[in-house]
Amino acid sequence: MAVGKAFWEDPYRTELATVVAGVRGGDITLERTIFYAFSGGQEGDTGTIAGFPVREARKEGREIVYTIEGPHELKAGDAVTVRIDWPRRYSLMRLHFAAEIVLELMYQKYPGVRKVGAHISEQKARLDFAWEGNISETFPVIEEGFREIVSADHAITSAFSDPEDEVRYWEIEGFARVSCGGTHLKRTGEVGAVTLRRNNIGKGKERVEITLSA
Ligand SMILES: [Zn+2]
Repeated sequence: MAVGKAFWEDPYRTELATVVAGVRGGDITLERTIFYAFSGGQEGDTGTIAGFPVREARKEGREIVYTIEGPHELKAGDAVTVRIDWPRRYSLMRLHFAAEIVLELMYQKYPGVRKVGAHISEQKARLDFAWEGNISETFPVIEEGFREIVSADHAITSAFSDPEDEVRYWEIEGFARVSCGGTHLKRTGEVGAVTLRRNNIGKGKERVEITLSA
């Protein structure tokens, strides 16, 4: 059975009491977790399990495997507390959703545009596009649309489209419905103001870097 991913039910949760499901050397799995593993371009969380720092969180199929700093004597069935670094996670969530909005605006305002890469870190998000010319020429249009969506403070719905296969989406009514398994904010106002920067990364490819202004 796949691990209970409580970061979807409540992405604002920073602490969770759960039980160790399995142990293999320094690797453990949990019955339920709030600790996100690198997925869909969003970096994983940092934090602790039973007080031990987590060195790596990774997905193996639908399972999330945690490598923790040992030595530890944890065994299946042990009650443990999971804690995540919330300032880091919240920056990741804000930048992730900023990237979602920018990407969706690009698709809507520039039909046919193609995304060729994406990455969300604690400091910045980046979106790479196949694009001839200088992509910063789109910024006035994108920035205006972005400000509208953020200042309207729209509700963001996150739910399963296919619970069996753990396929999820986010939706803003009247704007977009997008398939994504990341951790999403509840309202667009939480994103706040952002700065867009252009970076030419090679022939026919343009990068848009997004940072939070505050
Ligand atoms: Zn997403």
